[in-house]
Amino acid sequence: MAGEPQADCLFCKIAAGDIPATIVRETDTTVAFRDINPQAPTHVLVIPKVHYADAAALAVGDPQAAVDVLREAGEVAAAEKTVDRGYRIVFNTGAGAGQTVFHAHAHVLGGRGLEWPPG
Ligand code: 5GP
Repeated sequence: MAGEPQADCLFCKIAAGDIPATIVRETDTTVAFRDINPQAPTHVLVIPKVHYADAAALAVGDPQAAVDVLREAGEVAAAEKTVDRGYRIVFNTGAGAGQTVFHAHAHVLGGRGLEWPPG
């Protein structure tokens, strides 16, 4: 059922504490943890605890959780002191755009120059 934990979902397991991760922030509705393969000095993933396949599905199914993810992305950037220099919040959506884990997540990237357009 939409929003319910999925047994085969890596990020549901991280949210439940069943798989370890370097957690930097946690709220009632979100978990933020360091990406295992960082692409920038700051590379933190912010996930909702509810399971939706991507950010757009999350926004439709649980709008408050989507807002919570965005707020927490900003809190991560502030805690990592990347705000003054600028940072990027990325939601890869669909395999063609590089999404590999189908549990909605924001990448928070910062701490280096970020070019535009991205690859
Ligand atoms: P996507 O490619 O779906 O946008 O992002 C998935 C991200 O999850 C990738 O950047 C990848 O490095 C990260 N990732 C994959 N497996 C793990 C894991 O077990 N632990 C952590 N912390 N990050 C992971």
